[in-house]
Amino acid sequence: MTQGFAFELGATDGQARTGVIRTPRGDVRTPAFMPVGTAATVKAMMPESVHETGADILLGNTYHLMLRPTAERIDALGGLHRFMNWERPILTDSGGFQVMSLAGLRKLTEAGVTFKSHIDGSKHELTPERSMEIQRLLGSDIVMCFDECPALPASDDEVARAMRLSMRWAARSKDAFGDRPGHALFGIMQGGVTQELREESASALVEIGFDGYAIGGLAVGEGQAAMFGVLDYATGYLPEDKPRYLMGVGKPDDIVGAVKRGVDMMDCVLPSRSGRTGQVFTRRGVLNIKNARHQDDPRPLDAACTCPACRKYSRAYLHHVFRSQEIISSMLLTWHNLHYYQEIMAGMRAAIAAGRFDAWEAAFHAQRAEGDIAAI
Ligand SMILES: [Zn+2]
Repeated sequence: MTQGFAFELGATDGQARTGVIRTPRGDVRTPAFMPVGTAATVKAMMPESVHETGADILLGNTYHLMLRPTAERIDALGGLHRFMNWERPILTDSGGFQVMSLAGLRKLTEAGVTFKSHIDGSKHELTPERSMEIQRLLGSDIVMCFDECPALPASDDEVARAMRLSMRWAARSKDAFGDRPGHALFGIMQGGVTQELREESASALVEIGFDGYAIGGLAVGEGQAAMFGVLDYATGYLPEDKPRYLMGVGKPDDIVGAVKRGVDMMDCVLPSRSGRTGQVFTRRGVLNIKNARHQDDPRPLDAACTCPACRKYSRAYLHHVFRSQEIISSMLLTWHNLHYYQEIMAGMRAAIAAGRFDAWEAAFHAQRAEGDIAAI
């Protein structure tokens, strides 16, 4: 086991690259997809099952955990890994994004954000210093800087103001994080869809110096073409020898396009949330299990998938338990979706290593274009 935190770059194919993030709690193979464990659980999944899907690392949400059960309580109980029975690496966000999207009555100042909890209306404050303290109490392996992500569309002036405030907060986050061997601090690039602002943000972060760099402020309504447009240049502003993390992305084709453009890590609630609403991602695109066409269908979701939902259950059964609102429906569909996402990642890692990413990508899109298997 390594003592420190390190990133080892592996193969490259075009802009796409493989690597390994080494942490004292285990390795993370990149490109990596991180399932989201918002409230110290990936909903409907046992931690052992999350690992079985192929996930090396989970994401936890500072905003949710600070409100309930509180970071202090988790610390007293031995930290987030022990609390949720996941001994592998955990990345925590800073709370900034969710304060902006979930909390009521926010007040933003140079110092930080005061807000009211969406749970009970109680008043709280998040600053770069408090966010670093909470993430330390949680015991997170990869800590994110506290930043402000404005909702798009926003004026250039507003995007620039939020980005420059985030860069001042990044410097304060670095100071407050201090020296913590085995733990990493990532900076977050902002700047909306404006190239000059992205470049300014990246140089400010590189000047401060971080263990990894995130691309924030995307997947907030700008659309895939605009997001890829930013990624086309944004990854080039970041150091080659540090991991690059695209926050909050995305759909399967978003993920493939991001990796193609040099991204190493991603997270999204989509596969788990969709599992609970009956939306299923397969090699042949998206299907909705509540559709009546599945009610007499003895075939699996995806005959080539090795997840428990596909090996042991029919579409007819999955349709039935979804319509009956049985808990096993969320369990099986979430498992399948997470398994499929990890298969995409493994497929891309193998393709990059073999120098055939373009061929892999073409096959990925061709299979999706076929659409779901014809109804019986
Ligand atoms: Zn499956």
